[in-house]
Amino acid sequence: MNKGLLFVVSAPAGCGKDTILNELFSRTDKAGYAVSATTRAPREGEVNGVHYHFLSRGEFERKIAENEVLEYTEYCGNYYGTLRKSVNDLLDAGKDAILKIEVEGAMNIKKMFPEACLVFILPPSFEVLEKRLRDRGTETEEKIIERTQQARREVEFAENYDYLIVNDKLETAVDDLLAVLKAERLRRTRNDALLARFK
Ligand code: 5GP
Repeated sequence: MNKGLLFVVSAPAGCGKDTILNELFSRTDKAGYAVSATTRAPREGEVNGVHYHFLSRGEFERKIAENEVLEYTEYCGNYYGTLRKSVNDLLDAGKDAILKIEVEGAMNIKKMFPEACLVFILPPSFEVLEKRLRDRGTETEEKIIERTQQARREVEFAENYDYLIVNDKLETAVDDLLAVLKAERLRRTRNDALLARFK
């Protein structure tokens, strides 16, 4: 059985990456979500082991010490990290592993695994992103400005990614991501065994 491939998906807050990925997983069983660990508190509706492995700081630091964490970062005062086991379980089952991580984690993954494919999801524009954050009605004006500035900083990293997807329409963005997954699987460099059969 072929091992799955490693994909990283990053996007500034408000770009709809959770919605895109949920829709993607409902449309393919060839890829799975590599569940990260975090020390932040669960949000309403989040399930331990599904959205994140929710850990105390002590538990998280133990996992780092025991080399169970591939990469980690501190974001808004909390640890977030990719668990080696989450990734390996998917790859060993022949599924593509999708890591939904922020830009610095993505750069670290690319250094460790140059063959990993990095996908960045963009909003149609910063103006649209700001409007989306405002329309949610859950954030204060100060938070909206902070998040928009953070988004601008994160987008600067997009030039290091392999693919860019604009989330203007959800359906199109999901189609685009499925196309990336498919194209990467068809890469000649990932299919040397196939060519060997024709030698
Ligand atoms: P949130 O608290 O909104 O779920 O996540 C905050 C940020 O942390 C998001 O950009 C998310 O993609 C990122 N993140 C989630 N898990 C990981 C991880 O394992 N490693 C890194 N580097 N970032 C992560």
